[in-house]
Amino acid sequence: MAANRLRTRADIAVTLINPRAEFVERIPLHQLVAGNDDAVADYDQLLGAGIALIVDAAVRIDTDRRVVELLYGAPLSYDFVIYAVGSTAEPPASIPGAREFAYPVAELEHARRLRVVVADLPPGAAITVVGAGLTGIETASELAENGYRVTLVCGGQLGPYLSTRGRRSVAKVLRKLGVHILEAPAVTKVTADAVVLSDGSEHPTSVTIWTAGFAVPALAAASGLRTDDVGRLLTDETLTSIDDDRVLAAGDSASPSGVPLRMSCQMAGPLGMTAAETVLSRVAGTTPAVIDQASFGACVSLGRRSGIVQFAHKDDRAIDLSSTGRLVAPIKEAVCRSTLWSLRREARRPGSAFWFKGGRRPAAAVPDAPEQEAPNLPLCGRSAGCGPDISNLAAHVEP
Ligand SMILES: Cc1cc2nc3c(=O)[nH]c(=O)nc-3n(C[C@H](O)[C@H](O)[C@H](O)COP(=O)(O)OP(=O)(O)OC[C@H]3O[C@@H](n4cnc5c(N)ncnc54)[C@H](O)[C@@H]3O)c2cc1C
Repeated sequence: MAANRLRTRADIAVTLINPRAEFVERIPLHQLVAGNDDAVADYDQLLGAGIALIVDAAVRIDTDRRVVELLYGAPLSYDFVIYAVGSTAEPPASIPGAREFAYPVAELEHARRLRVVVADLPPGAAITVVGAGLTGIETASELAENGYRVTLVCGGQLGPYLSTRGRRSVAKVLRKLGVHILEAPAVTKVTADAVVLSDGSEHPTSVTIWTAGFAVPALAAASGLRTDDVGRLLTDETLTSIDDDRVLAAGDSASPSGVPLRMSCQMAGPLGMTAAETVLSRVAGTTPAVIDQASFGACVSLGRRSGIVQFAHKDDRAIDLSSTGRLVAPIKEAVCRSTLWSLRREARRPGSAFWFKGGRRPAAAVPDAPEQEAPNLPLCGRSAGCGPDISNLAAHVEP
């Protein structure tokens, strides 16, 4: 979205750096695991004419020299960088066995790897999904609908984002699909064929899927730019880095005023356009606008035949109003299609994509983080809450 929006000016040369030659639509990654979507799209129609796609990974943003260092290619010089590296997930090292035995679904390669494992299971095999946020709920319902015996370990609450009524509806549909919901306990250990819970019980499982939270790449921190405690780039409300006004952020990896928006496609698109608009303002010498976007809530699939729309206030707090049932399934399908549709439209007609405004966000001060030394991490190295390491990106970059 950011790259496409920048094309509203013909005299700006836009380069998109991405480690894969194809666009990954992450929203249906749980469907890829169940075998009913491939979750990729061709960049040809998603990127406007003239945008240079470089299939490589950024390993450092050198703000002094104003270059982006790449894993394979020569460093790229820039006037502005929009940092939109998204999010990922990695089972935590603090839970014994989680890294060895649990499968994440946050990235294409995760989902493809898990698809192979799931496709090999006999019908009715036991699958444990750890984490009952929206990704965990979608994954559990998709697999239950495909005939697996799914246990969903919530670690406190089913669907923390949902309203009370929404949560009740989701629980009802999940139970109908045969999902065994364990709300209170958390997973304390994972083995090859079981999970151990905080109440001391052990549950046999053929596969454990980890969906307990997203993390972000460590590229900002590795570039010496200040981040929030998760690793998202700290910006002001125009999405400009608090350390460097030539660096902007958007999407899951942005932390405007240290009060990030919910990691979601719904928020990421408008943030991408806002970041591009800030660049356009700077180039034109005008004052950039601040973030102004509204949430509608969340549309969550519950298998292929059901779903729930959880409505929210403009500031994304869920309200006790939701709608569930068969009609929601095609709505969710339409939402997924509209993500690609709006990218294509913006590619064809830069400036045409729109989003719903929510007003200025309440004044939030950028946390008074002390000036950091460049953290001297291994590039894209892992620190608490950060990932993936560069080997993950290297796996799908063609040299
Ligand atoms: C299973 C699942 C279901 C979801 N369902 C929904 C949903 O229903 N609704 C919703 O709103 N959201 C949903 N999300 C979340 C949504 O997909 C993300 O919030 C959204 O994709 C974030 O967009 P983004 O542009 O910030 O980052 P991403 O889509 O993650 O894109 C970031 C890109 O940057 C690349 N990158 C990373 N590091 C580097 C580097 N060093 N150099 C170059 N490139 C790099 C990544 O490989 C990736 O291609 C879901 C996510 C998952 C996993």
